[in-house]
Amino acid sequence: MQGPIRDILIVGGGTAGWLSASIIAAHHKTEDGSGPRVTLVESSDVPTVGVGEGTWPTMRQTLRRIGLKEHDVFRTCHAAFKQGGKFAGWQHGKDDFYYHPFTVPLGYGKIDLAPYVDDVAEFATASNWQQHVCEAGLAPRSLGEREYEAQCNYAYHVDAGALADLLKHHCRDNLGVTHVVDTVTGVELSDDGSIRAVKLEQRDELAADLFIDCTGFASVLLGKTLDVPFLSADKYLFNDSALAVHVPYPTDDAPIACHTVATAQNAGWIWDIGLTHRRGVGHVYASEYLSDDEAAANLRAYIGPAAKDLEFRKIGFRSGHRAEYWCKNCVAVGMSGGFVEPLEATAIMLIEIAARYVAEQLPASSDIMPITARRFNEQMDYRWRRIIDFLKLHYALTERPEPYWQAHADPKGMPESLREDLALWSHRGPIRSDFESAAELFPAASYQCVAYGMGFRPDFRQQSHLLRDGDQASRIIERNRQLTQQMLQQLPSHREYINRWLAAA
Ligand code: FAD
Repeated sequence: MQGPIRDILIVGGGTAGWLSASIIAAHHKTEDGSGPRVTLVESSDVPTVGVGEGTWPTMRQTLRRIGLKEHDVFRTCHAAFKQGGKFAGWQHGKDDFYYHPFTVPLGYGKIDLAPYVDDVAEFATASNWQQHVCEAGLAPRSLGEREYEAQCNYAYHVDAGALADLLKHHCRDNLGVTHVVDTVTGVELSDDGSIRAVKLEQRDELAADLFIDCTGFASVLLGKTLDVPFLSADKYLFNDSALAVHVPYPTDDAPIACHTVATAQNAGWIWDIGLTHRRGVGHVYASEYLSDDEAAANLRAYIGPAAKDLEFRKIGFRSGHRAEYWCKNCVAVGMSGGFVEPLEATAIMLIEIAARYVAEQLPASSDIMPITARRFNEQMDYRWRRIIDFLKLHYALTERPEPYWQAHADPKGMPESLREDLALWSHRGPIRSDFESAAELFPAASYQCVAYGMGFRPDFRQQSHLLRDGDQASRIIERNRQLTQQMLQQLPSHREYINRWLAAA
């Protein structure tokens, strides 16, 4: 295969498919339509996974870049703000909780405040006001501020189906994407083993220069056709099942949480995501330790009386990723390339990153595709390793007694890289230079919030140089106290802000 990449075929119309189409088409939009042609084919017989409602702050930039107004996203996707995650019961399973807020600590990049905080378990609140804003149920910005901007870093909670629908209309109406509804029944390969065309159930084949596999767990192109192996991560991350449900609010004006709540259970955890019209709640668990009935009982107990008439939807999954994500002329984006439990909403973030990478490479000549593919694969491998380590960190430091949690805390079940990190961090905690790869996903501050929130205590005294900027640290910690008070006084309640903003928009 030679020549420039002109035709791109995206197979799959879930969040991965429509986000990829939007990102690539928006990146190459020209007045004369001279950019690559983007077509998306999706089956009406294969449903989307229908979950995936928590995002990462990268989504703000993505929505803005593809040309969507933020208030349209809120209105059509029943969206709400997400300012981080609250992890309840992960350390002891009693009343313990900690936050992983999206705003980085005050003074981040200039000074590491952790060694100066009296009790490093309080790191998140001593260095950052956002946990208090979340506990108070406030919006990240006030009415005077413009859309996509805020005093507190934020992402979104969105209705997954509504987001895919909004992106679909935007792609078709504004970005020139061709939409085909049909099922891929087979694949035609070229002599060099790359994909020439996909065969469809109801019409002629569709040929393209580059194929983007967004077929979810089915991985129709990369997994089934090109036979790229799946590398399991289940020895580190034990969960393989989820029960999902939509929970109505008791009243129209009920408060909306402005963060995801992840509440630990005896063999898994429950997510709780607040949208404007309902909550999305679900139990992620390990079938080796918990039966479906026990998980359903956990979920009912968590939801309370409102669970009475609700039916739960079971979703099975395998944790892991493919050995390659870009093979020949096929790139897997979304769950076709890999999936791990949604503890930090990394899946949609990876979709954004992967689609953007593809967009930025086009319309390169296809003979340089092996170079692009190799670099992409190296970066994605690194990211998957980091994600697995970071998710495992949430479990590794637990003191919960149940067998599931004890198995997680067993160093023999941790990736070697995480064991090494924990050994280094025992003297000085996570620091920025641990996370300086261009492919990094989470800043050191994220690892600090999780590790310290879970009770990790480095012995900072062994590193006296970490303690020599006491005056500066005190000033920043005091400034954070003042800012916290200011935010608590100035920011409006989450639901009130959304209602008033949308009414005025
Ligand atoms: P899917 O939604 O499964 O879409 C697959 C598409 O491929 C469909 O349109 C289907 O019709 C099409 N298709 C399949 N086979 C064919 C065929 N033969 N021919 C034509 N079309 C075909 N991610 C987050 O970032 N945050 C979260 O909070 C989060 N929560 C999650 C909770 C759970 C329980 C699970 C399982 C996942 C969660 N995720 C989350 C992941 C997130 O849902 C997915 O990454 C996201 O929805 C993208 O899915 P997808 O588009 O890859 O696959």
